[in-house]
Parts: sequence; structure tokens; C-alpha cells
Amino acid sequence: MHSTERPVELQTWTPASRAEPSVRIGVILESDGRNGVDVLTPVVPCQVSAGVEGVNEGKSGISQTPIPSGSSIRIEKSAEGLTLRCGDCVIGPTDRLVVDPQEPTQAAPGAGILVRDVVAGRGFHWQKNADQTLAGSLEFVPAPGGIVMVNELPLEDYLIGVITAEMGSACPVEFLKAQCVVARSWLLAMTEPKHKIEPFDRCNDDCCQRYQGTGDMSRSAIDAVQGTRGLVLIDPNGKVLDANYSKSCGGVSELAEHVWGEPKPGINTIVDAPADDPVNQFMPVTEDNLDAYLNGGWLAKTKAFCSTHVVPVETISKYLGRVDEVDDYFRWSVSYTRAELESLLRDKLPEATGLSELLDMRVLSRGVSGRASRVEFKWKDQAGGEAVHVLDSEYRIREVLHRGFLYSSAIAVRIERDSGGLIETVTLRGAGWGHGAGLCQIGALGMGLTGHDVDAICRHYYPQAELQAAYP
Ligand SMILES: [Zn+2]
Ligand SMILES: [Zn+2]
Repeated sequence: MHSTERPVELQTWTPASRAEPSVRIGVILESDGRNGVDVLTPVVPCQVSAGVEGVNEGKSGISQTPIPSGSSIRIEKSAEGLTLRCGDCVIGPTDRLVVDPQEPTQAAPGAGILVRDVVAGRGFHWQKNADQTLAGSLEFVPAPGGIVMVNELPLEDYLIGVITAEMGSACPVEFLKAQCVVARSWLLAMTEPKHKIEPFDRCNDDCCQRYQGTGDMSRSAIDAVQGTRGLVLIDPNGKVLDANYSKSCGGVSELAEHVWGEPKPGINTIVDAPADDPVNQFMPVTEDNLDAYLNGGWLAKTKAFCSTHVVPVETISKYLGRVDEVDDYFRWSVSYTRAELESLLRDKLPEATGLSELLDMRVLSRGVSGRASRVEFKWKDQAGGEAVHVLDSEYRIREVLHRGFLYSSAIAVRIERDSGGLIETVTLRGAGWGHGAGLCQIGALGMGLTGHDVDAICRHYYPQAELQAAYP
């Protein structure tokens, strides 16, 4: 880093730190299988540090080499470690390289170190490689499968990149501010470490949060982050709220215990609509009112914040960036023939490989938003016996009941049978998109579009939490 004093790292940050932490984002992952990375240094000179700090005090195995601005650098991995080449200069082989701009790069559009061919959208059909400019420093370490590149930068600068990548710049700024507060709280709560054994806090993709550097940085994202600097949600126990969110609750939000098996302080169920809206009659959604919730006449006049009356389907992609296809996420349905559903179950359920005929399917339990948490299947196996299997999480239900992923588990199951009682079709009518706990993104967008500010949006989705500045 530029000064001798290192910033607090996210891993060691606590509310008592009262300082903005730095975050470490995995941008090139071992699974990308890269043995070479090309980099262009920014308009300020950089320093390259090579080696790993010695274990004994005063003994540092680190060498430092200045690199001029605008230099092309190539980093390659071999059995000996990493080697950096820049013109005639060769550094390494070594176990660690850090390229660090000697003046802090401003979080401005296009500022920072340019890295060639970074993967975006890992594993999705739209996966692509693109150059990215990254503010902060870059660290390279060799892993058996390839080079790992970690971008370390101040949290607020990182958030601008996240808000730019996740949200369309046409979004109302109060909605973007709410997204900033939620993303910042979720990061600082650090309760969901998906990369425990890797040398970074979060990756740059949908697995954690999408982040694509400063390249397309939008003015509205900069304004939203700067306008909420340090603001986080504090849960009733005084801790930073683990601020979960999903795409669309469907009208009623879900309880944490129903999604993750245990309650979370500050995550409650809410009706995602003004107090006089007809959707309020469905709190909670039960087996008895489910059909009316999914299909009733009230849908024609609801002003639920995530309904299509407030956020029209055609506008969602303009606001929420890339969505796979334009669809009504508030109310939807999926239909399978028996053969289709049987083949889905055989492919996705290891227990169903011997399934010969599906006999029945029913929801055993639901949460307050109608989301199923237990679904039972009964089938005839190849030996002619009957087997019963229960899927027991909303995640598994969504995973198994669709070739991709079912939008949500808030489903009513309608089975059509022939005169002999054999299943012909199974129709799933559903509400919402995602687990439905915490903030509803499409609903928060709807609140922003109808004039609500960041405080109102946060109070609506997290009624027991408080907005506080975690650092100046
Ligand atoms: Zn990740
Ligand atoms: Zn909602």
C-alpha cells in the first residue's frame, strides 16, 4: 500500500473499527485455469512487490521494483511460481506478486489498472471474457489449477463497481441508495463466507456479487454510494444486519427460519404493499388462501410494490440489468407432462434413478409467503414397489423442479389425471423470484419509482433494524 499503515481488512473489521475496511475480491479464480495474465499499468507509476513476508521479525523476503505508468506487464505461472515481465525487467519466479499504484486511484470511470480477458458470468450461457480496469492493487498468487488474481480496494470504491454491475443506471437513486445500504451491510456482516480457503473475501461474480471494475462506472452508482457512505443496517442485537435480499417476494416476504432453518435477528415477514392494499389479507399465505393469493381478482387492482402494476414487466431489464428473459416474476406458471417431470426427477434426484411412474406430488409445509419447504413425491420403482421421497428445503425444491431453476417455491400444484388415474400433466402456479426473505429488489425498485426514499425503503423491508453510520 502507499502508506506504511495498512487499512483494516474486511476479515478483521468490527463496528468498533469505525473505519472503512479494504475488501479483497477474487477477479481471476483458480477455476479459470489461467497460466498467463496481461496487465496495463495506469497513468500513475506502480510498485511491484515480489515474495512473501518472512516469518521472523525484521526479515522480509519481499523485493520492490518501480514500474513506469502505461507499462504492459505479463505474469506467467510455471512450476517454479510466478514470473513478471515488463520490457527488459524480469521479476521472479516467486510465490506472490503485488502490483500497487503509487498514488491512490480515484474511483472514477476507467481509472485503475487494466487487466486483459477477465471472465464474467462464470458457468452461465452468457459467460464472456472482457478487459476490466480495477481501482486499488492487484495481487497474484499461483494455485495448482492456475493463477489467482485478487483486487484489493476500499469498500466504498468496490460498492460503486457492484452497484454499476448489478443495477441499470436508469434506476431511481433512492432505490440505488437502498441497494448500497443492503450490499454494504451484507458485506460487513460477513456471515456467508463462500471462499473460506481462497485468499479473498468475495469473488467478482453472481456467486457473491457481480463486480466489473471501473470501466462502465455510472454517475448514479457513484452518487448512491457517496450519498450513503458508511451507512449500514443494525439488527436488534446491535450487530450489522446480515441483509438478505431476493429478486421478488411475490407480495408477502418470507421468514428466515423457513429459508435457512433458523431465525435471523432483523429479518421479519412483511407485506410488500401500502397498508390498504388487498394483498394484506394474505398475511400469512396458507393452504386455504393460496389459490386466491396466486390467482384472485385482487391482482387486477393491487399496488404491491413488486407487482407489475408498479414495475411493468417490460421495464425490469432496464432497471435490474441483465435478466435471462422478460417474464412476469410476480405471478407465473410452469407445466410438465408426466414424462417430462419424471425425466426431471430422474436427472436431478439421485434417489429417483429407478423411478418408473410418478404417482403423486404434494406440498407438506409452507412458510408465511406460501413458499414450500417440504414437497413429497410418490412413485413406482422399476421393481413395482412404491417409493416416497421428500425434498426438504425451498432451495432443493427450486433446483429439482426445473431444468434451470424454478423462480420460487411459492407454488400451488395442480395434477391432471386420465380416467385411469394416471398423471397426465402437473402445473405449478407460483409467485415471486428467489427465497423471498429480506429486501425484495423489484419491490424496492417499485418503492423508489413511487417516491419513497432510502429510509422508507429500509424501514419497510427491515422494520426492526436501524440505519447507522459504521464509519465517517
Ligand atoms: Zn463467490
Ligand atoms: Zn416484493
